[in-house]
Amino acid sequence: MKPSQVLDLSSPIRTIGTLSGGAGSWGACRRWIDQHGPDGMVLLFTDVGGEDWANPNVGEDQDTMRFLAEARDNLGVPLVIIRNQRTIWDVFLEKRWLGNSSLAHCSWELKTGPARDWIGKHAPGAERVLVGIDVTEIHRLKDIKSNWEPYEAVAPLTDKPMLWKPQLLRMLSDRAIAPPRMYELGFAHANCPGCVKGGQSHWARLWRVWPERYLYAERKEQEIREKLGADVSILKDRSDHKVRSLTLERFRVEKLGKSDLLLDLFGERDLFDGLDEGGCACFTDAPPELALVPDGSEDREERYDWHWSLPGDPLRPDSTQSARPEPIRGAA
Ligand code: SF4
Repeated sequence: MKPSQVLDLSSPIRTIGTLSGGAGSWGACRRWIDQHGPDGMVLLFTDVGGEDWANPNVGEDQDTMRFLAEARDNLGVPLVIIRNQRTIWDVFLEKRWLGNSSLAHCSWELKTGPARDWIGKHAPGAERVLVGIDVTEIHRLKDIKSNWEPYEAVAPLTDKPMLWKPQLLRMLSDRAIAPPRMYELGFAHANCPGCVKGGQSHWARLWRVWPERYLYAERKEQEIREKLGADVSILKDRSDHKVRSLTLERFRVEKLGKSDLLLDLFGERDLFDGLDEGGCACFTDAPPELALVPDGSEDREERYDWHWSLPGDPLRPDSTQSARPEPIRGAA
């Protein structure tokens, strides 16, 4: 283990590198370290697996954890992992709001909020937070900077020469780090596979690649609908110039369950809204203002634990970080 990877809370922490599990956040930290060195830097990752982290249908993909371990070893600075006791589904029930593209409490409650709490408590001298957005998302930078105040949000990938995904994938390849498998499976992000901010195109891909994960989310959505007694849904049906709920079950049966002949004739993108990809803004968002149940004065830190990881150690107790899980192709 490199001495630089030992977490020493008695030394001032000035720079927080937020790792999301994707190539962008690794690239932002890599560039910062190449230009400024690793001193006073800590990486932060927030795991949304909750108490159910061993369930492969909950939280991040296992290969994202493998990638994080390799990214951490490459960057050579300590990695702190924060795990809340709740899953995204617990948060939705607690907030009485099923997350969707308009508002997803999971992002603040399980990622940005705990990260800010940790920084405030354990890194009071932090000056800046590195974020992995690139030029394709530069329009979000002004809001991100304002959301992270009083820390300075720094987006190293947007400095010239700008770097984005193709270059980052090449940089990973040069260092013999395989990117998260979600990219080669067609996902735009390597965050939660069943991201509630994802649109129809994202969920159609999840159904094709990981049907078990889709069906798990479908059951959870139904459970929340029943508990809330409301016609809520993750997806939206925007046909006929109206916006209506579209449950994952209805989307699967009516849109994704078409026969092969129809798919051959029309192509799946004509059977649903193929441009509705959606996206995730974890680690960059502000506290939601539309909370139906206010946060109150609870100390959020009582609801999460954190530890720092050792190089070579698994990020989750039972995961094997050395092997890259095979893609689970299968589907409907
Ligand atoms: S990736 Fe999506 S589902 Fe996961 S925490 Fe972020 S917004 Fe929620």
